[in-house]
Amino acid sequence: MNTKVRQESEAGLRRQIHAKIATIAKTGICMPGTLVRKSRKCGNPRCACANGGPLHPACTVTSKDCGRTKAVYIPVDMIPEVETWVANHKRVKELLKEIGVLAERLIRLHVPRRLAARRRSGSLESGTAET
Ligand SMILES: [Zn+2]
Repeated sequence: MNTKVRQESEAGLRRQIHAKIATIAKTGICMPGTLVRKSRKCGNPRCACANGGPLHPACTVTSKDCGRTKAVYIPVDMIPEVETWVANHKRVKELLKEIGVLAERLIRLHVPRRLAARRRSGSLESGTAET
């Protein structure tokens, strides 16, 4: 029956959503931002870096905080770990987006076709952009 098919795909969508939630739950520490590698002078006037020698590797994670760009300095020994945190955050963000898409499909599946068609034409009428 039609209803059964719909219920099955709804269940399928819910399963997919919960699989993604489980993946998020298993993810480690997350940190928003972009890891930026650069080199810098350490400030010691007697260091080689102050006299044309090689600079010291430095790393920051930059992110937007209320529209302002914020940079957090990452100690060298923490760089590999923080790199994972940044990657985790990116992955979680992707998963949340995917969950949102699936949730929308789940809702659409729930709305009877006629209602959906009426809503679509309604949204066309209320649309402001005319091309
Ligand atoms: Zn130095």
